[in-house]
Amino acid sequence: MKRMTVLLVFLLAASVMAGGVDFDRFFENKTLRVDFFITGNAHEEDITLDQIKIEGEWAGNPRHLVDDFIKGAYFIKAYDVASNALIYSRGFDCIYSEYVTTTQAIEGAKRTYHHSALLPLPKRPIRFVLEKGDKQNIYRVAWVRTIDPADYHFLCEGPPQGTVIYEAHTSGDPHNCVDLVWVGDGYSTKETRQFKKDCDRYVEVLFSVEPFKSYRHKFNITGVLLPSAESGVDEPRKGRYVKTAVSSSFNAFDIPRYLLTEDNKAYRDIAGAVPYDAIVILVNDERYGGGGIYNFYGLTTVNHELSENVFLHEFGHSFSGLADEYYSSATAYNEFYPQGAEPAELNITRLMDPDNVKWKALISPSTPVPTPWGKQEVEALEAEMASINKTLKTGKLSTEEEKVSRKRFDEARASRNRIREVNVEKWRGKVGVFEGAGYSSEGIYRPEIHCMMYSNARKEFCAVCRAATERMIKFYID
Ligand SMILES: [Zn+2]
Repeated sequence: MKRMTVLLVFLLAASVMAGGVDFDRFFENKTLRVDFFITGNAHEEDITLDQIKIEGEWAGNPRHLVDDFIKGAYFIKAYDVASNALIYSRGFDCIYSEYVTTTQAIEGAKRTYHHSALLPLPKRPIRFVLEKGDKQNIYRVAWVRTIDPADYHFLCEGPPQGTVIYEAHTSGDPHNCVDLVWVGDGYSTKETRQFKKDCDRYVEVLFSVEPFKSYRHKFNITGVLLPSAESGVDEPRKGRYVKTAVSSSFNAFDIPRYLLTEDNKAYRDIAGAVPYDAIVILVNDERYGGGGIYNFYGLTTVNHELSENVFLHEFGHSFSGLADEYYSSATAYNEFYPQGAEPAELNITRLMDPDNVKWKALISPSTPVPTPWGKQEVEALEAEMASINKTLKTGKLSTEEEKVSRKRFDEARASRNRIREVNVEKWRGKVGVFEGAGYSSEGIYRPEIHCMMYSNARKEFCAVCRAATERMIKFYID
């Protein structure tokens, strides 16, 4: 019995040593930013170094240096050259990883995107490794570089002149908190006060929903603004281009409401004015739109009536690594989640093993898997509505025929709404396995009938998304 206890203690100690990395032994309390370009198409890619920069205090959790989330299209890993020990790792997605799923990239057109990897400043030479995940979520080495902290070529300039810093919500030491930086775009000098007000407004939006509400005292949120020469945002479809600090633009991948910035260096330089774990870009415009990429950035306009909901949805992507649970909106991607591979995101599933759904622990035994929610009836009625609309648009109907068609359209819409309401009422707040998610009507499933990742109807994340987000918060604070 005693021998067994000794053995258990030994095994426990060994696992702590393997999992934990001594921050002070390997790192200084500063941030190393490795900037690189990824160039390629769906079939080949090339990664090249741009620059290496030393920025201010390290914001991350010194007790969690190795990422155990295992998601994102890429993974950066840092190994101590002398001991070959893995001392830091982090997964992320980027615009390039979306680009390679577009028709343009599949047909061979190459594009270049810029990216930055952040890690604490090592005390000794490291082997910096970029791994790329395949469709089965198996990661392979894509790029390796030795980085010696003694190299005097590293840049160490501060943020651009004129950068304004606004402490919107302060809780404590960055090492023990989630540190968010909110970068303003499209705010002119005259609109600096407006930016600060918007920062305050979005602090309240974030903490109005769970699980953020319960962890309010564990977040630091700092607004950082380099005033823009002009207000607003680029709208290519309208030929409207404005000079802004980080060049946010609608129409990413030719999707009208998809708002992104490709000027990675610009927003990183501004964000680097403060220690940060995650970036949100607040865009001073009233049109509906946004974008969010895991461990990259979340971005939203702030003045549309649904902007606050969009902000929460995009933050779900960028901070928690959640998937889109909707499937009806047009996207530019081809087979974003390949057949036969379980998505890495925690909030959608291909249901390849119905007895072992990844959120099984949250499903009540009386809930059927998959969970019927009137999907076929709703979709049949929507198809009928679309067909009637098409006929009406031809303008070839007689007055009487038009009247009949409009009546039938209204009836179909009323039936659809009724079926939806009945099912929402029946399943509200209950975890099941609902078909239709991840841009696919069939074969991909979501955990609840409603979630912020599914629709903007209500400001509430489903139980699975709340749990995934809480796990991420704890990664930064525990
Ligand atoms: Zn959800």
